[in-house]
Formats: sequence, structure tokens, C-alpha cells
Amino acid sequence: MNTEEIRAFNDRHIINTYGTRKLALTRGEGAKVWDADGKEYLDFFAGIAVTNLGHCYPDVTEAICNQARKLVHVSNLYYIQPQVELAALLCEHSFADRWFFCNGGAEANEAAIKLARRYWAQKGMPKPETVTAAQSFHGRTMLTVTATGQPKFHDGFEPLFPGIRYVPFNDVAALEKALGPEVGAVLLEPIQGEGGVNVPDDDYLRRVRALCNEKSVLLILDEVQTGLGRTGALFAHEHYGITPDIMTLAKGLANGVPMGAMGCTEEVASGFGVSSHACTFGGNPLSSAAALATLKALLKPGFIENAKAVGEHFLRRLNALAKYEVVVEVRGKGLMVGIEMKKPVNVLVEEMLGAGIICGSAGPKVLRFLPPLIVTTEDVDRVVSLLDASLGAFS
Ligand code: PMP
Repeated sequence: MNTEEIRAFNDRHIINTYGTRKLALTRGEGAKVWDADGKEYLDFFAGIAVTNLGHCYPDVTEAICNQARKLVHVSNLYYIQPQVELAALLCEHSFADRWFFCNGGAEANEAAIKLARRYWAQKGMPKPETVTAAQSFHGRTMLTVTATGQPKFHDGFEPLFPGIRYVPFNDVAALEKALGPEVGAVLLEPIQGEGGVNVPDDDYLRRVRALCNEKSVLLILDEVQTGLGRTGALFAHEHYGITPDIMTLAKGLANGVPMGAMGCTEEVASGFGVSSHACTFGGNPLSSAAALATLKALLKPGFIENAKAVGEHFLRRLNALAKYEVVVEVRGKGLMVGIEMKKPVNVLVEEMLGAGIICGSAGPKVLRFLPPLIVTTEDVDRVVSLLDASLGAFS
């Protein structure tokens, strides 16, 4: 089918939650993708921060094919070898002692909030509340959409969940005030993604950690978007010299195969017992094999260092675009990059697309780039030159 034929089928049969889209992508390799009409694009969005190793990374493809020939699914009623190997590797490279696997970011956050509630419930706290940040994004299930501190995502879905309250992001004093005795957990993204690529002050997370310790509150970090090399470290909290009690992962975990995970300390893991939480597909042989191959590749020298170095180059080049009056601020870390403009950026996203570059936005006025971690300084220079050429007219 060509793009027009795919669009016609889509319009007839798909529930319209995504609106009209420009592309039907049918093939990918590395940082390049091709559409149904054969046009080539440089992918600076990576399926919303997912294909971190690049499209169809050979080791992951091989792991998927091998596992698909052996066993795809059995359920968690049985031990699953690639799942336990994956958990062991994640434990080796993080603060976490134990893992629970699911299918994506919202499910991972759902598991994290439930675990924190049950951990405190077992200790006799009647209704432990969770504090999250304004402008956060944690998912679209009812609990995680409630945890998401953006009213536009709540619209039409009330009543929301009880026991969630919000504080401004990057505001330690506001958090301190919110941490009453009824609060059991704080849930934050180390760097807010969907809310506008908001990078907190360097000492914010360290001070949040100290407050949580002081008030006996669990710190949950949502590293669904920031984790797995995206910011130039395996996990973004490493930049800030702290560890959480619970961390959630998804997106880049299996380089495109649906996969989510929640990791926590041994102590906090005691909050869940047999039957307290479950997931039919979570960590099944196929997704675990893909994630294991992804993580093994990511841990080899190259990917994370490249994200850091090319990310720094990208931010430096973009900062030079502050010469345009329309640019408010360039923000980011590693290859999680946003430019806030004075006006809506959808025109720019379309112009870039016309020139063969895929990028996106975070809210109406932040142009956003989330390329695979393999992009080069030449790729970045091509993107920045195009943007430079567009910004004159855009201003
Ligand atoms: N948390 C964060 C920080 C995210 O960016 C997202 C998705 N953009 C989610 C959670 C939800 O993940 P999913 O769409 O896999 O449920």
C-alpha cells in the first residue's frame, strides 16, 4: 500500500486518538527510515525516544528471531530465562535489587505507585498519598493520567484518582510543604520530557532525595524517557549523584519491542507479595530476549558516550540559534533536546519533515529532538543548518 491507501484504511478503521498524520513509515535502518512511497528520512525522534540503538539493530533483530523460533509466550506462571538474565543485568548496573516487568511506561508507573502504597499500607499507614509535579507526564491509565500534572490530559476523564497531589517542578520549598505525614511517595521525572524538556537545577534531585529521607517518603523516579542512555548516562539520576527507591523504565528498554520495568530496593520490594500485582505479558520470553540484547548492546562502549558527546555538540549548535528573537530557550541533556519558541512550532516540524528530518514537539511551543543514540555530529549539523534556514522566516 502507498501512503494514501494506508491513510484511507486508517481513517475508516482506527479510533481517532492520534489525528491526521503525515507519514506511513515502512522500513528503518540505523537513524534512517523510509515511508510507504520510498522517501528517506533522518529520524530525530526515534519513535518517541524508543529506538535508542537505531532501527533494526542487528543483535536485537537476531535475538527476536531466535527467541520467536523457540518460545514467544508462557506467562509468569513459569520461570522465564531471558527475563531473569535481564533482571540480573539491570541489577548489576543500577541501584535496584529486584524487578517487575510489564508492557510499557504507564504500566511501570502504575506498578510503582501501587508498590509504594502497599509498602506503607503494610506498615500501618492508612491511605498513603503520592506527590507528583506540575507539567509531569506519567502515562494514560487512570492512575497514571491522574499522576500526570497537566490538566489537559485530565479533561473529560473525571473523577480522577484520590491520593495524588501536585507541586511545581524544581521547587524544593513547595515539595517540603507538601510532604505531610499522609504522603508515602514522591514521583518525578529526573528531566520532564512531554511537559517541555524541563531540566531542573543541578541540586534539585539531591535536595529532593534528602527531603524524602528526612520525611520517610519513598522517591520514585520515572526514567521511562530519560533512562537507558538517552541523557548521556545509563540513568539520568546518575548525573545528580543520587538513587531513588523505585525506578521505572520502558521506551528504549527493548529498542522498540513493547516492554516496561519497575526496579526497587530489596526493602521496598517487600511491599509486594504473591498475587499483589501481575501482568500476563510482562517480561515474556520474546520481549525479555529483545530487552536483554538491547541492554547488552547499550552497555558496550560507544552508545552512551556518543549520546553525551553528540548531545553536547547539539546543544552548543542550537544555542547559537538564540540569535533569533523567536527562540526563548534551548534545553536538554544528552540527546533529549528541546527549544522553546515564542509561538507554536508545528509549522517548523512540518518544514523539517518536508526536508527529510523527523522531529516533534513537547507541548505547543517546544520543538523537540530525541534521535537514536547513534547519530553523528554531521547528522546534527544537517538538522541545525535546516533549522537555522527556517528560523529566519519563522521569526
Ligand atoms: N513516563 C514518561 C516520562 C513518558 O515520557 C511516557 C511516554 N511518553 C510514559 C511514562 C508513558 O509510557 P507509555 O506510553 O509506554 O505508557
